[in-house]
Amino acid sequence: MRKEILSQQIPLVVAEMLLFVAHPDDEVIFFAPLLELKSSIYQDLDEKSYGNLTVVCMTCEDDPIRFKEFTALASHVGYRAAIYDTPIVRGLSFENYFRILKRVQSYVSSDTKECATHSLYGDDHFHPQHVLLSIAVTYVCIRQGVRVIVADCSCSAAQLFLRALKRTDWRRLKSIALLPFKFVLIIAHKLVFTSSKLYQAEQSLLDSASLIYASQSLEYPSFVDNSYRFSSLRNIWRSKTKLVDKI
Ligand SMILES: [Zn+2]
Repeated sequence: MRKEILSQQIPLVVAEMLLFVAHPDDEVIFFAPLLELKSSIYQDLDEKSYGNLTVVCMTCEDDPIRFKEFTALASHVGYRAAIYDTPIVRGLSFENYFRILKRVQSYVSSDTKECATHSLYGDDHFHPQHVLLSIAVTYVCIRQGVRVIVADCSCSAAQLFLRALKRTDWRRLKSIALLPFKFVLIIAHKLVFTSSKLYQAEQSLLDSASLIYASQSLEYPSFVDNSYRFSSLRNIWRSKTKLVDKI
């Protein structure tokens, strides 16, 4: 069952921008600037869609603490939020993918102006659920001609390869077997999305998120200090076959 939390401040309108995240707190770690609705960053993207943001989280509806924190941040910052109970799985699971895909499809419609989600390679820790969600959102958006914005860092493909090597557990066959797949995803990401500019979140938003997410480790190094930032990237407009440059 889906729970949807409506912010008091925002009138109920069809969502024009959807942010899909795999886990509660991802919206802060990777997309804090997007949540800062008053920031010039969001208005730059499209002034008219200001305020029409819905954050959809795929997991932890059944985790009372993470559910509460996720919804508390939504009403604190002022956006609509929905959370589901897809199981948290570390490996790549087709069942999980199709579950995620169905949910993404149920949200993206002709009223959707743009979607944001994780990078194709699953961000700094190559999390399989970030990867599956990114593939699903990118696929649905390309099919429906909706613009996609993804998280990114300022790293080159070579730096990401090194990071993937460092994060490989050489004692585990599964971890080694995933390495070529990570390389392919990094290359695909770099080909599909061209980084323009990495944004810095407002410190006030980061501070209030840290208070709300008491159960999560927002000391996470990517949160404030490293180069992983929400990034407005190449936009995929209404052509299903042609990629055009961003506005
Ligand atoms: Zn996550």
